[in-house]
Amino acid sequence: MMYNNEHFEPVITPNVDKPNCETIEFYIQHENGYKALEKALKMKPAEVVDEVKKSNLRGRGGAGFPTGMKWSFMPANPVDANGNPKPKYLVCNADEGEPGTFKDRLIFTKTPHRMIEGMIIAGHAISSNKGFIYIRGEWFKEARLMQKAIDDAYAKGFLGKNILGSGFNYDLVIYKGAGAYICGEETALLNSLEGKRGEPRLKPPFPAQVGAYGMPSCVNNVETFAAVPYIIEKGWEKYAKMGTERSGGTRMIGVSGHVNKPGVYELPMNLSINDIIEIAGGMKGGKLKAVIPGGASAPMLRADECNVLTDYDSLAKAGTMAGSGGLIVMNDTVNIVEATYTLLKFYEHESCGQCSQCREGSHWLARMFKRILDGGGTQDDLDYIAKICGNMAGQTICAFADAVTGPALSSVRKFREEFEEMVMKGGLKGIGRTESVSH
Ligand code: NAD
Repeated sequence: MMYNNEHFEPVITPNVDKPNCETIEFYIQHENGYKALEKALKMKPAEVVDEVKKSNLRGRGGAGFPTGMKWSFMPANPVDANGNPKPKYLVCNADEGEPGTFKDRLIFTKTPHRMIEGMIIAGHAISSNKGFIYIRGEWFKEARLMQKAIDDAYAKGFLGKNILGSGFNYDLVIYKGAGAYICGEETALLNSLEGKRGEPRLKPPFPAQVGAYGMPSCVNNVETFAAVPYIIEKGWEKYAKMGTERSGGTRMIGVSGHVNKPGVYELPMNLSINDIIEIAGGMKGGKLKAVIPGGASAPMLRADECNVLTDYDSLAKAGTMAGSGGLIVMNDTVNIVEATYTLLKFYEHESCGQCSQCREGSHWLARMFKRILDGGGTQDDLDYIAKICGNMAGQTICAFADAVTGPALSSVRKFREEFEEMVMKGGLKGIGRTESVSH
């Protein structure tokens, strides 16, 4: 299928299907590896920040915050109470854990040097000499591969002291999480990195003021860093042109569910959800019923809403979000009550419990969905779900509670007749559904 975008070319994944693409030798030989770093080190830090600002790169962790702007929030010369200079830290959020999201894992395993190079350039841009890579606990193989890539970058002089004779020093350290979803939230991640319980902190202060170990820090996602070498090498204009007016570049989309070719695709943003389903081999095993467009917390869309474009602004206008680029496709064999319950069980388990609205709300929602599935639901429950969600969204320290309400509310709003039928007929058994997910 044509991508309908004359400017498009893969920024991150031009060679991820080639043998040995993860090695430093391949990156240097076939992808101009570390040349962007050489170029960036000859630029002033403010010039690098400006280049990234103009490229319209937005954070690929999910929220889409403008990256260059985030870098510019870092204080120039921070000092402590005694007037001594404070270190500044850069943190890579590699705690990819959103259900349906698996794009960063591909970068980690197939093109780790692109991300490392992006981090060193970012370190130079914000005048930091140390970066942490916080890795999802379940990523054993990925962490090993990343450590090897870091070791190789040190051996070639791209990390360490006086990089490429520029006088710039940069060190990278890996830190492994322990498998808690909430540690992907940037301030919970910072607490976890410091050896504390992984609970989100109130913002403000934002990490740029008080980050890792109390020092000014900048937290970015894996894909965000991986886009940086291209922007520096080819210039902001080329990158910006590939995207939309307010959102530059390409996006990595992980397509899962009922499609013939699930996987990670690097795509331009001017494609609709229907286009992406077609690129992923088309529907499998039935007609399109619903899509979750940006990882589990993005509100669902019905099949008749899937002509929407997949850039940040178009999806926001459609009442959902681009989020972390996990497109979950469901065909008409899926029961929406059941599918949503699977997600709610996940959230119930992963709520950190710090805020009562989230701790209790995620538990109540999962119980109510289960009651409906088991045949004990009432019509009033359907309105009550909305009421619980209203008491959760925007009421807590972090966005987790909002995330829970994404699937809970959108499923009832968009597929209410399916809920009503299940209530009326006495649950899953009543609608004759015997083969169901375990709950
Ligand atoms: P957010 O909008 O609060 O913040 C996004 C980023 O911008 C943060 O780094 C934050 O510090 C910064 N920021 C925002 N306002 C700022 C300001 N005024 N000053 C300085 N910095 C500011 O969103 P969030 O809670 O960090 O993230 C929510 C997103 O996370 C959701 O959209 C979801 O898609 C995504 N998510 C991703 C995963 C994954 O596995 N990738 C998992 C769960 C959630």
